[in-house]
Amino acid sequence: MQGKSKKSLTSLGEVFTTFVAGLLLSGHIIAQQAAMMNPGLVGRDQTEAIRINEAIFQATGFGNTTMVVTPDGNVIIDTSLIVNAPRHKRLLQAEDDGPVKYIILTHAHGDHTGGVNAWREEGTEIIAQDEHYEFVNYQNRLKGMFSQRNAAQFPSLNVVQLSELEIAEGVDNFGADIVPTIMFDEEYDFEVGGVEFNVLHTPGETYDHLSVWIPKYRAAFVGDNFYTSFPNMYTLRGTKPRWALDYVDSINRILALKPEILIPSHGDAIIGEQQIERELTRYRDAILYVHDKTVLGMNQGKDVHTLMAEISLPSDLDIGEGYGRISWSVRGIYENYMGWFDGNPTSMFSTPVDDAYPQLVELAGGAEAVAMLAEAQIESGDLELALHSADIALRAEPKNTRALQARLAAFKALLAASDNSNEAGWLGFGVRESQAALDSVLSP
Ligand SMILES: [Zn+2]
Repeated sequence: MQGKSKKSLTSLGEVFTTFVAGLLLSGHIIAQQAAMMNPGLVGRDQTEAIRINEAIFQATGFGNTTMVVTPDGNVIIDTSLIVNAPRHKRLLQAEDDGPVKYIILTHAHGDHTGGVNAWREEGTEIIAQDEHYEFVNYQNRLKGMFSQRNAAQFPSLNVVQLSELEIAEGVDNFGADIVPTIMFDEEYDFEVGGVEFNVLHTPGETYDHLSVWIPKYRAAFVGDNFYTSFPNMYTLRGTKPRWALDYVDSINRILALKPEILIPSHGDAIIGEQQIERELTRYRDAILYVHDKTVLGMNQGKDVHTLMAEISLPSDLDIGEGYGRISWSVRGIYENYMGWFDGNPTSMFSTPVDDAYPQLVELAGGAEAVAMLAEAQIESGDLELALHSADIALRAEPKNTRALQARLAAFKALLAASDNSNEAGWLGFGVRESQAALDSVLSP
């Protein structure tokens, strides 16, 4: 049963972002997210598979499942979420119901691995990169923590009930199921039905990430290393470092192949060598720009918050922030390189700055006075400052109605203005949490 709970947890990562956006967000964000990932609300109404060429077919969803047909059997690249798999299988098998010889997993997020059992047949080989082993163990090792984060960010899914949160009593470091039958380090080549497949290690969104190259069709399957948005180089639910220079190297590896067809696991395929080169180059350069500006600022002695506020993409590299945020990526790069210490000796100790607030609030005239400051900040549009003021007041007096109301109002205003699906998930959590605290104060 452990394997089962693992699967529902790993499927939670950021895999539901668009799905959840549809449940949580305002209309324009739904439209933007849908357009970002795929027109037609992520394949929900898809009645037949997309024919990319004479041998490659795709079912869309969060994420896509792609099938390569050969005379001796088929190859499935990514299997989508477990909930999408039956629909994807029906659509793709309507095109060709040959045996499934191989399943290739671009990486071990649940929106890519969820449908493995739906597709797997007697003798099907499942291919993943060597780092898959640590990646699935890492997701399993921290499943209690991820449960909490996912319950906050993706409440509408009800996939994790708070009552189900695991109260850890021990640590399971290496207990994950290892599903793949073939693992490789740098490159794995095979042939089926006269079609050659080159499977390449291309770390980026995850360190177990791979890409697939089919020379015959000049087709590159790039998994989650390409989106029509700045990538989620740091994800708020928490993740091990996603290294900017890994993305850059991996994209360069794909560019060198000069693909005619580029197939990401979210969103539409791109057809045409020149367009692919243009879009991949811009994507790579946007990542490199943010990385280099961050490193430059670090070497110039700037702190992380200054750089988060300061760095933005120039217009020719502006690939949008519907999915990843530049500011979180800046902080991710900074802290992945340097760790948590900010260089201020005050920060070395276990006493957090929050512990200083109650006495300061008292000096300022009490929580009510600080809550009024938060209200004034909301009034003048300084919503992030208002959140800090409200938090400071609440640290001194957790049930202060005025501070709770200010916190709620600031979150609501930020949510209404948000155009990023991950940010909106957490702002929604802030709204619910503040509302619940307020309700319990007003009618205990
Ligand atoms: Zn994905």
